[in-house]
Amino acid sequence: MNKKIAGITFGCKVNQYETSCILDDFIKAGYRVVDFNQPADVYVINTCTVTNRTDYKSRNAIRKAIKQKEKNPEVKIIVTGCYSQRNYDEIMELGNIDLIVDNNSKSKIMNYINHVDALNFRDILETTEFEEIFTSTMIDKTRAYIKVQDGCDYYCAYCAVPYARGHSRSRKKVNVLKQIQKLTEEGYKEFVLGGINLGLYGREQNDNYFLSHLLIDIEKIEEVKLIRLSSIEPQLFSDDLLAFFRKSKKICPHFHIPLQVGCDEMLSHMGRKYTVSDFSSTIQSIKSIFPDAAIGIDVIAGLPGETEELFQKTQNFLTSLDFTYLHVFPYSRRPGTRAEKMSGQVHGSNIRKRTKLLTKISAKKTQEYIDFIVKNSVMLKGVIENKSNGFWTALSDHYVRIFLQSKTELEKKYLHFLPLQKRFDGIEVKTGD
Ligand code: SF4
Repeated sequence: MNKKIAGITFGCKVNQYETSCILDDFIKAGYRVVDFNQPADVYVINTCTVTNRTDYKSRNAIRKAIKQKEKNPEVKIIVTGCYSQRNYDEIMELGNIDLIVDNNSKSKIMNYINHVDALNFRDILETTEFEEIFTSTMIDKTRAYIKVQDGCDYYCAYCAVPYARGHSRSRKKVNVLKQIQKLTEEGYKEFVLGGINLGLYGREQNDNYFLSHLLIDIEKIEEVKLIRLSSIEPQLFSDDLLAFFRKSKKICPHFHIPLQVGCDEMLSHMGRKYTVSDFSSTIQSIKSIFPDAAIGIDVIAGLPGETEELFQKTQNFLTSLDFTYLHVFPYSRRPGTRAEKMSGQVHGSNIRKRTKLLTKISAKKTQEYIDFIVKNSVMLKGVIENKSNGFWTALSDHYVRIFLQSKTELEKKYLHFLPLQKRFDGIEVKTGD
């Protein structure tokens, strides 16, 4: 009988992608994937440390796997990801863990499952090589996520990510293109490029091959119909990148940009590399190319030092800005970061209050965007997904989810790629991944 593997992932798309790659290696070796709550031979917990809450959830999942091991001592427990990268000893103290794998060795897990002593847990800050980690099957069957970059060199005051992910490093162009080619053979038509700080792609190398160059090469692959970018820092929308957007027929007019806080005092306090006026200019540049682009923005409520007056500035700035939705994060104090020790920590109740106020601004902007799309009959393109509740659905290039009642052409084939102008029966903006 096939051995069983169960995996669980916390945190971002990069982590989810890496779990898919790990599970894929086990599937190739004959394992069957089962739900994390079921008995399995191997448990993989891919942890996250972005907030106290993800630390807590990661620990809980590890404890669940330990309980399974208490019932069956043959069970193997493998822990990896950002929380374990920063808290090796704490995790070891939880109990009977077989393997803690550093963030740059996830591709080796399958090989080391039977030789657990052979794997060295490495300090991620010493890593300079991008770890090639590959899968030809995606959890999301409609669009393929491709990790092209890892790490971050910015060390913003509140963020623990650089300590868990290491320095910025980029995937070789040849490997990116090979994987995309392979996935087009599996039928994928939409590709989402991602990383920890995607805009830094290629910048640590000296061959002058940056994100814009990679995008030009991906655009040339005929079977690729849509290219979507995950989050890019506002100052990394370079002239080259904007020039690519102008020419591209495949880039989605949907961009996600971290603002974090909308006043210059706080941006500088947190070590961010732009002003609110730079941020506005980035949005204007994008809108001058795609007047109907969907713009998503990350903001953090209640960073240390954010007084009521400064928070009001953020609200005013966001109210005046042309965007589509916010991802609002309540600030979470991360051990070992500069912000952890800063004075002016905001009380939890105020953080929650500010989170609510920002969420309200977001909902209003989203409704305005939907009204704009409908009123102007904006052309939407997308890969048609499954049918549910009587509607065919697609996440369009503008990040607007479309619901179609009419099936006619759609019945011919399960997965279609087609323009959907004026054919939608209902739409909503998807504001989370
Ligand atoms: S840019 Fe700043 S917020 Fe983003 S991952 Fe790097 S350090 Fe963290």
